[in-house]
Amino acid sequence: RPWNFSAGPSALPLEVLQQAAAEMTDWHGSGMSVMEMSHRGKQFTQIRDEAEADLRELLAIPEDYEVLFMQGGATAENAIVPLNLIGRGKTGKADYLLSGIWSNKSHKEAQRYGDIAVAASSGSETALDGATQAPWTWFPGIDTWKVRPDASYLHLCSNETIGGVEFSDWPDMASVGAPDVPLVVDASSHFLSRSIDFSRAAIVYAGAQKNAGPAGVTMVIVRKDLLGHALPVCPSAFDYSNVAAADSMFNTPPTYAIYVAGLVFKWLKKQGGVAAMESVNVAKAQALYSYLDTADFYLSTVHAASRSRMNVPFFLRDESLNSEFLAQADAAGLMQLKGHKSVGGMRASIYNAVPMEGVQALISFMQNFAQRHG
Ligand code: PLP
Repeated sequence: RPWNFSAGPSALPLEVLQQAAAEMTDWHGSGMSVMEMSHRGKQFTQIRDEAEADLRELLAIPEDYEVLFMQGGATAENAIVPLNLIGRGKTGKADYLLSGIWSNKSHKEAQRYGDIAVAASSGSETALDGATQAPWTWFPGIDTWKVRPDASYLHLCSNETIGGVEFSDWPDMASVGAPDVPLVVDASSHFLSRSIDFSRAAIVYAGAQKNAGPAGVTMVIVRKDLLGHALPVCPSAFDYSNVAAADSMFNTPPTYAIYVAGLVFKWLKKQGGVAAMESVNVAKAQALYSYLDTADFYLSTVHAASRSRMNVPFFLRDESLNSEFLAQADAAGLMQLKGHKSVGGMRASIYNAVPMEGVQALISFMQNFAQRHG
């Protein structure tokens, strides 16, 4: 198969696709495809329970957090988070950290629900499309973030998929002067790619379609004490406490997507878990960025300390060669390298399912292309 560098929906491990294909018409002798099973039957209940247990194990999720399988993607969470949390502090306030296009979208959506402020930003609102650093590194220190101590929560996007800007760590809220403000993280595009310190986050959400499975299921990991504060207008199916009380079966869940995500979790355990995957991801990103930094033909504009291990935007210095680069890459079995339209250039998304071999194939192609056109 060609190497697939799509930002999402993106490559899945071949073994997972093969297993899903082998089980397509008859899951474990049940005589049914997973798509044909009642979500309340014993077979699907087993699939869901194992998916949750495996995810808990992979991320070392503590007992005082619920794991929810929801729908609507991270975009819906941009509304679901304020609908569930903004009523919590009774002040109707929430603060947002802006580091690129996705956090900017979250911030805009939240404005429909309360008194929303920017705690720190990588640039002006209009300049965020081109943000190349996380506010983490842009500011002298996180003590300069303006988090209101009575805010219901602080939201950040820990990996900006489009800009390729990643937080190397999550803030300890005490060091931001707001120890009681829960941290909410959109981790969609680096979920399961690195170890996470759950003691720092109150809610972590991620659409599956990058590192965890097919589009359709959103994982929401929420600390239990945050349940039960939904605004009266919050749709019942989006009230975290309803979803938690029903083990993510408040309504029909995205059964097939949960099943494939469960296969990805098992695959990840076989690879040695998240810590083992993180070492591979570090090596992959190092290989690609070191090549970009040494080759005059290409350019990486993201600030070194904010460079994403998962999404690597880069440019050809001679942009008139872009179409030729993409056509030849495609012919060489290197797919979906075109950058997002708001950034331009190229973007290589090197999620868990792209092994070092895929990154090396990309680097060889880039070297070869540069030699022929440099
Ligand atoms: N947040 C991040 C970081 C993303 O990368 C994306 C999609 O690429 C989204 C949110 C939106 O996700 P969805 O399209 O599943 O709603």
